[in-house]
Amino acid sequence: MALIVQKFGGSSVADAEKIERVAWIIAEKYSEGNDMVVVLSAQGDTTDDLLAKAMEINPNPSKREMDMLLSAGEQMSVALMAMQLEKLGLPVVSLTGWQVGMQTNTDYSNARIKAVSGERVRAELDRRRIVLVAGFQGVNSYDDITTLGRGGSDTSAVAMAVALNADLCQIYTDVEGVFTCDPRKVPGAVKLEEITYDEMLELASLGAQVLHNRSVEMAKRYNVKLEVLSSYVRKPGTKVKGVINVEQSKISGVAIDSNVAQIALMGLTDQPGVAFRVFRTLSQEKINVDIILQSSVGRSETKDISFTVARSDMERAVEVLKENQQMVGFKDISMTDKISKVSIVGAGMMSSPGVAALMFESLYDAKVNIGMISTSEIKISVIVDEKDAERAMSSIHRRFFEA
Ligand code: ASP
Ligand code: MG
Repeated sequence: MALIVQKFGGSSVADAEKIERVAWIIAEKYSEGNDMVVVLSAQGDTTDDLLAKAMEINPNPSKREMDMLLSAGEQMSVALMAMQLEKLGLPVVSLTGWQVGMQTNTDYSNARIKAVSGERVRAELDRRRIVLVAGFQGVNSYDDITTLGRGGSDTSAVAMAVALNADLCQIYTDVEGVFTCDPRKVPGAVKLEEITYDEMLELASLGAQVLHNRSVEMAKRYNVKLEVLSSYVRKPGTKVKGVINVEQSKISGVAIDSNVAQIALMGLTDQPGVAFRVFRTLSQEKINVDIILQSSVGRSETKDISFTVARSDMERAVEVLKENQQMVGFKDISMTDKISKVSIVGAGMMSSPGVAALMFESLYDAKVNIGMISTSEIKISVIVDEKDAERAMSSIHRRFFEA
């Protein structure tokens, strides 16, 4: 007997038929004698539909009222699921974020969880009820409803698992687990049995949108046993944990991130303080910089600095740099968003030399030119032409996983 937290995403509860399917998954685990806490997302496109409704009325609503509105989607889901479980004759109760004591800060629309009291949940579990919890929502110190940011129900689930000291946190979704690559783009992609929290964080930030990043960060901090699995296929999914057996493969996955733009500053004076002026200007505007490259080949008095930012920040970054051209001290500036970042991630790459060479060889095989390179302990990223990105990903994947 265990305490299990399950979370089902919006597509898994999109209609009555799917709700019934999920109810049977919950019922099965419950009837094995486990204590069940189930976090749900809003059905299908409900959150987007609610957003659209708001825009029809006021394109600039306050975040407080937006949270009031969006949190309704999750509340619908738990009530409907409770009705389905009642129909199956199971004892159940649905609860809002407020009722479970999901306390957040006051950052409406992107609130951070501060504490979860969970008393009500424990009391309900003691009565052997299945507890359904509305995901994505909490309550702040003004007793207002807050939401945790898009995709936040994963984080609600992990927070419940931490608060209740759950034995397992299962995140059910519409994919079978975490794959070595996007299976829609690379048919040879294989499901991973396990992956580390750190690899998962890297893959998520690279665009493999399986789990909300903050949920993985929290799972890592509190060492929550996570499993990602499908609501449709009864198969074990992917376990996310602290340490995995990295003997089998040097890397865990290949991912593309298209949300990148590159800015190049040319003709900067080659003196101390230049990079500081560039990046201070950007940080004052809260613009995040990812990969940075500096070169001064063949010239002694000037240098160039290129860097990448999120696409949505490109225009603004160029604007503020131009405004400060005198102070920063550059001759020319250029930008492009016709690029992508292709990365390999693997906790095993630290201990296996030759991983970078293998990646570059596969890029050469695919005749892909590399713009920038960056590396960390568990990741190697290259910036390539946007039109080459998928070919690059497939070629790298073939070399590491399909050989
Ligand atoms: N319903 C919210 C969203 O669509 C939260 C979630 O699904 O995790 O972002
Ligand atoms: Mg999600």
